Amino acid sequence: MRPSREWMLEILKILRKTFGPMRHSLEDPFELLVATILSQNTSDVNSRRAFRNLKVKLGKLTPSRLASLSERELARLIKVSGLANVKARRIRQASKAILEKFEDDFSRGLKGNPEAVRAFLTSLPGVGEKTADVILAFGKGAPVVPVDTHLFTVASRLGIASSRNYREVREAYERLIPESERAEGHLLLLNLGKVYCQARKPKCSLCPIRRLCPTGGKSG
Ligand code: SF4
Repeated sequence: MRPSREWMLEILKILRKTFGPMRHSLEDPFELLVATILSQNTSDVNSRRAFRNLKVKLGKLTPSRLASLSERELARLIKVSGLANVKARRIRQASKAILEKFEDDFSRGLKGNPEAVRAFLTSLPGVGEKTADVILAFGKGAPVVPVDTHLFTVASRLGIASSRNYREVREAYERLIPESERAEGHLLLLNLGKVYCQARKPKCSLCPIRRLCPTGGKSG
């Protein structure tokens, strides 16, 4: 079973039936940036709570509003997300860097081709390739497949890519998923990783794509 576009489309079709279509609308890119930094090394529940604390305090999140908080106050508000001091410093530094270049209009920094935007985003404190790609995909609507820890696991088990190199795995997914399906494909594969293809103990006997999976197919 060699990975091919047809094979991947079949997998996405099954996952869409399993989880329902993953509709997504473009999100405010700056709020997405803050949410993504908060989500690093913590659970979805805790990062959402930290994000909500910021929204209650500031309303719409903007670079100037975040930069106006002291690092201590910011760390207090996002404490529940863990690594609060580190994240507070990153969010403040990123907010100031954006303010200097684009004032409060972060979307100006997203204009241009994905490679140029990716270079700008990864120059911001706390923004790695995955965070940059989340912003590209869901803040700009660019046809990229962000690869998080779940998509790394799924890529390896499905035989898409065994590399731990971010770019190689992203490009392997992008060769298999048509541009128009990449954002939804990311969300469907993320759910597959969270619900069935967990790193420690995959639930292969329950997995809806087992017949198409070279690892699950062998597991009895
Ligand atoms: S069959 Fe098992 S290894 Fe394959 S995708 Fe499903 S859970 Fe992961």
